[in-house]
Amino acid sequence: MPAQGRRSDGKITRAKTIPMTEEPARQRKIIHVDMDAFFASVEQRDNPELRGKPVAVGSPAARGVVAAASYEARQFGVHSAMASIVAARKCPGLIFAPPRFEVYRAVSAQIREIFAEHTDLIEPLSLDEAYLDVTTNHQNIPVATDIANQIRTRIFEVTGLTASDGMTILHAYVPAYTW
Ligand SMILES: [Mg+2]
Repeated sequence: MPAQGRRSDGKITRAKTIPMTEEPARQRKIIHVDMDAFFASVEQRDNPELRGKPVAVGSPAARGVVAAASYEARQFGVHSAMASIVAARKCPGLIFAPPRFEVYRAVSAQIREIFAEHTDLIEPLSLDEAYLDVTTNHQNIPVATDIANQIRTRIFEVTGLTASDGMTILHAYVPAYTW
């Protein structure tokens, strides 16, 4: 909706749309990568007894907060940022795993190395989430879906973890002056 104003004579004026650049916007291919239940999946990977079980990464203490929940725990309504006591009430068999951020950081570095095989334009959002601009990419793969599939396969080979839920391809029109 363009901005509107009322002139002193009562007529309504409509703001003109001012072009921000002479150059037309160009389409960029962006892949959004988000690891599945990242911290909880790392704990299940490294502790086989946690596999297939509801796991919350975090402290069960009274003031504890869930940092990540496994899929099994999510089925009970447990999610990250939930107070641990609430989580334990929702999911009676919930297993709390102490966070190991140094391990999550190391896995994150492995994943970023895989991204770097394809592009230098990486915008990390958190340890397990990033936007990759693959419009031009190091391996000259024309289709973003193919790059996403390669990244997903490599991540699984290298880390044993999945990013299957979190691969979204965005075709963003971005004015040329912003890149
Ligand atoms: Mg994630």
